[in-house]
Amino acid sequence: MEATKFWIRLPGGPSRGGDLNRNWSFATLAGMLADYAVRVERTRGRRYPEPPHPYRNDFQRDRDRVIHTRAFRRLENKTQVFTARGSDHFRNRLTHTIEVAQISRTLAEQLELNVDLAETLALVHDIGHPPFGHAGEKALDAAMRRHGLFFDHNLHALRIVEDFELRYAAFRGLNLTFEVREGIIKHSRDYAAADHPELGEYLLEQRPPLEAQLIDLTDEIAYNTADLDDGYEAEILTVEQICDGVPAFARAYGEAEKRYPQAIEKLKFNEALKRFFNEMVTDLIENTRSRIVAAKIGTLEDVRRHPQRLAAFSAKVDEERRQAKTFLYANLYYSPELKSDKERAEQIVGELFDFWMVHPEELPRSYQAKAEEEPLARVVCDYIAGMTDGYIEKQWVVVSG
Ligand code: MG
Repeated sequence: MEATKFWIRLPGGPSRGGDLNRNWSFATLAGMLADYAVRVERTRGRRYPEPPHPYRNDFQRDRDRVIHTRAFRRLENKTQVFTARGSDHFRNRLTHTIEVAQISRTLAEQLELNVDLAETLALVHDIGHPPFGHAGEKALDAAMRRHGLFFDHNLHALRIVEDFELRYAAFRGLNLTFEVREGIIKHSRDYAAADHPELGEYLLEQRPPLEAQLIDLTDEIAYNTADLDDGYEAEILTVEQICDGVPAFARAYGEAEKRYPQAIEKLKFNEALKRFFNEMVTDLIENTRSRIVAAKIGTLEDVRRHPQRLAAFSAKVDEERRQAKTFLYANLYYSPELKSDKERAEQIVGELFDFWMVHPEELPRSYQAKAEEEPLARVVCDYIAGMTDGYIEKQWVVVSG
């Protein structure tokens, strides 16, 4: 059944004249969700039952718990793409996270999903990332594989919220609702139950709710556009280069040029990027909506039991997204300008990992105690993964003398 829709009048409404679309806003009443949305009153709950809060629902509380963690604050000093950030104008992992949350709220509202849950999942989606972005993650995984283990940032994020964050007297971790923990694990990929018996409670044979499915795609919209922006700002990418490699951007730039022929290049670039961004967001809303209708999805159970994820771009925009990604890999992520930062990041992570494997007595006391219960490699990995770029740099200076 369609959710009930209504119009609300915002300050400065049409009586003052002006554009109807700008002055009136479409709103969905709190609680008036699509039948396939996650309803907070039907949450599978927390590991340790807690009394309800007088005015915040469980997903709002989870969002606030995530924001108040150390791991969340550390995102500010973790690399998104530019390791040695030449400018404070570039994204870091915290500002990237806020951008993903913004896009996710828009998507969730338009698809009549649970906005609080989508926002919480967006805010927590990168919390398990180690320092130095993708290079740090690759180096940490490589180090773990030398010891027969591996590093996975989603699984690490679950460990952070379940175990590492110590904020409450009654339990370890944040005691988040099932739906948030499930979304942390499943938002970007599926895990085979046979390979991950420890994740058995997370319904691995089922798709996650749409609120979680969205996150991987809003993440990609955020970083594809932001990395073009930062790459251009850093003068690694030029408009001509981007237009050659990303046809959807070229089209948008052509429109911006026609509309603002006198504008300086940077502002035409911004206009083009905004159009490309809007195209991806709108396509994701519309295409996901049509897939929901085509698959005759009526309930959350239908979403979970559907053989594929329902949140998806159309084939056309998916191809454009892929072109942008391929372009960014070839011209930004693997550019000579970023190469030395990346190699340095891999060296620092690799050398520190090996140092603590040989000298566990140099680990902080709390980690030494953990090593009595878990493989040392896992403990060293947890220690490194939690570090900010600044902190790991300092450790490396100390260790390498
Ligand atoms: Mg991300």
